[in-house]
Amino acid sequence: MKSYRKELYFEVPTRRAFINITPQVEECLRESGITEGLVLVNAMHITASVFINDDESGLHHDYDIWLEKLAPHEPVSSYRHNVGEDNADAHMKRQIMGREVVVAVTAGKLDFGTWERIFYGEFDGRRRKRVLVKIIGE
Ligand code: ZN
Repeated sequence: MKSYRKELYFEVPTRRAFINITPQVEECLRESGITEGLVLVNAMHITASVFINDDESGLHHDYDIWLEKLAPHEPVSSYRHNVGEDNADAHMKRQIMGREVVVAVTAGKLDFGTWERIFYGEFDGRRRKRVLVKIIGE
């Protein structure tokens, strides 16, 4: 069995953003030389997510509105976590959108459904953060 590990870095200039990281994961898969196996992609921070969905800007806008309704950033003082920080909402948004995804690798490709793409969800940006890509297989 082969094994591959790489950390991807993101420094989002805004507090929140969704980034299609499918091309970077595909590049990792090419580098790994693995053609049959599994890819794990996870955020290495508790205020960011990795998830799979449609690459459609309207949907991403809808996610942002929905997440703000569930866990509004303001008022910052409404959260107990926000003693000396202001990112309680980001922890909650991350919880809902998920930590990681696993994708099958078949014949050297990510074995997606038709519209599936991998996204990095940032909820407390403006600093450098990491995503782990781990690939195992043959
Ligand atoms: Zn925090």
